Amino acid sequence: MPTNKDGVMIILSSPSGAGKTTLVGLLSKYPNFETSISHTTRAPRKNEIHNKDYFFVNETEFKRLIKNEEFLEYARVFKNLYGTTRTPVINNLNKGKNVLFDIDWQGADQIKNKKLDYKLITFFILPPSKEVLFKRLSNRHMNDKFMVEERMNQFNRDVLHWINYDYVVINENLNDCMIRILNLIKAELDNGSKDYDQEFIRSHVEKLTS
Ligand code: 5GP
Repeated sequence: MPTNKDGVMIILSSPSGAGKTTLVGLLSKYPNFETSISHTTRAPRKNEIHNKDYFFVNETEFKRLIKNEEFLEYARVFKNLYGTTRTPVINNLNKGKNVLFDIDWQGADQIKNKKLDYKLITFFILPPSKEVLFKRLSNRHMNDKFMVEERMNQFNRDVLHWINYDYVVINENLNDCMIRILNLIKAELDNGSKDYDQEFIRSHVEKLTS
């Protein structure tokens, strides 16, 4: 049974290349923050560790988990399946831990619609400009111009989901962005005043999409 000592659910979503995974990694180092480890059918990238970055499974196993209703949410992203299993999340929340989710807008929508008895705060991370995004994606996918182009096109579609999140944060500088997120979480939990300008965000999105 949920109580007021429970942890909160904190979702971070973003278009590819906005730096969300790095942010989740930094936030997870704070006391009492746990990252939810997703299942995926995507192949591991080099440096990724099974059971730490993801549980890497095949489609048969993923479909078995769907059938057993083990997922809190799942979605197809870039041709692969990704999902969050319910039990570890609920166990951590019941222990008073704040759970961080690095998931896309489809998963965020599903969790929001579940209306669980735990507090939920959702963040959408944006790059400072399209030029910076292009540079970040080009560095990440050095030899794959097609991939960069695909992710830039996807960006134009993904960015439209900003409106469904509690807060949009611009990742110009990792540390500043992380502090901004922590301050907003603190303000939400303490019912304090929030340093947040929705109109500024709206005009930033307009610039990114024009
Ligand atoms: P990547 O393959 O680059 O690690 O992740 C691709 C996208 O899938 C990212 O936007 C990431 O946030 C999202 N993602 C990762 N895990 C999950 C999950 O469990 N559920 C959903 N819905 N999206 C996920």
